[in-house]
Amino acid sequence: MPKMKGVVYLGNHTVSVRQDIDVPEPGPNQVLIKVAYAALCATDIHGMEGLIGMPAKGPDTVIGHECSGVVVALGSEAEGKGLRVGDHVVGDPGMYCHYCEDCKAGRKCTAKHNRGHGVMAEYKVYNIDSCHKIPDDFPLRRAALVEPTTCVLRAIDLVQPEVGKTAVLSGAGGIGMLLLRAIKRAGAARVTVIEPVEEKWPLIRELGASYIINPKKQNVAEECQRITGGHGYDYVYEASGTSAAAPVCLDITGYGGKIVYFAVYPADYELPVNLNKLYKKEGSLYTVFVHYTNFPRAIRFVQEDDPVIDKIIGLEFPLDRAPEAFEAFHTSKYSKIVLKCNEDI
Ligand SMILES: [Zn+2]
Ligand SMILES: [Zn+2]
Repeated sequence: MPKMKGVVYLGNHTVSVRQDIDVPEPGPNQVLIKVAYAALCATDIHGMEGLIGMPAKGPDTVIGHECSGVVVALGSEAEGKGLRVGDHVVGDPGMYCHYCEDCKAGRKCTAKHNRGHGVMAEYKVYNIDSCHKIPDDFPLRRAALVEPTTCVLRAIDLVQPEVGKTAVLSGAGGIGMLLLRAIKRAGAARVTVIEPVEEKWPLIRELGASYIINPKKQNVAEECQRITGGHGYDYVYEASGTSAAAPVCLDITGYGGKIVYFAVYPADYELPVNLNKLYKKEGSLYTVFVHYTNFPRAIRFVQEDDPVIDKIIGLEFPLDRAPEAFEAFHTSKYSKIVLKCNEDI
């Protein structure tokens, strides 16, 4: 059986690159893709440690879920179903059976189907309905941002920001930067970002923030009141995933405000909610998961955005140097880091 390189988790926040992973064979309704770029995401870390409801990853399972690539083989029954060899694609990490109650009820994302191995490898198999064709002129590197953008669009849809209303975002990681872009393009005003890593500030400004707060040096609640003239924000997005940043969201939301907790928090963290403080505001709390129907929209959104969106990818490593990429990821200095999984595409 032909072998390929793939990134596996060894425990203790470390990964290694194995050279002896079997190249997967597409089943009847599957396609084999040659992976172009795989992006690192905090969810990979949570997933490796078993924090998001999936079993913790062992040294035999390739990790990663955000990627772009090129179709190189079709399964025996995949012909005529929208994809051909040579097509450029992005993958949905979800695998759907279409027959269980969750799939039939449109809650496909919560269906507990085996997802197969991850994308940080030279090849990856997808069910044909979990693989989305992208235009040939859509750079494959930028296309690695599509999967996280499907979650970002879900966060936008849940609260439906209105043009001219105010928004604040806590945490400018990969998701945070994409969310900032979407919030700005949705028409929000006084867009404010709370981010302690000042190296990220020039890009935060370029992506559309009017104000930036350093939570390590400034009083977040006071700054937010000052910027909004004492009203608080209409939309509050918490995307830092740190428990220290979560409670203040309740204080900086304004009347009728909508607070979106868009991160995976530590499994034992409990948010203190003072309902007395919140009730007069008629505030609402939201959480966000993925949504598979957003792929066509996310493809158009990322492809047609200004090239400034490319700058969200701060570093690129070849697949062989994945351990260095994860070390860089843990510094929090780079919003998005990608692995180039094949040199020839
Ligand atoms: Zn992700
Ligand atoms: Zn199902």
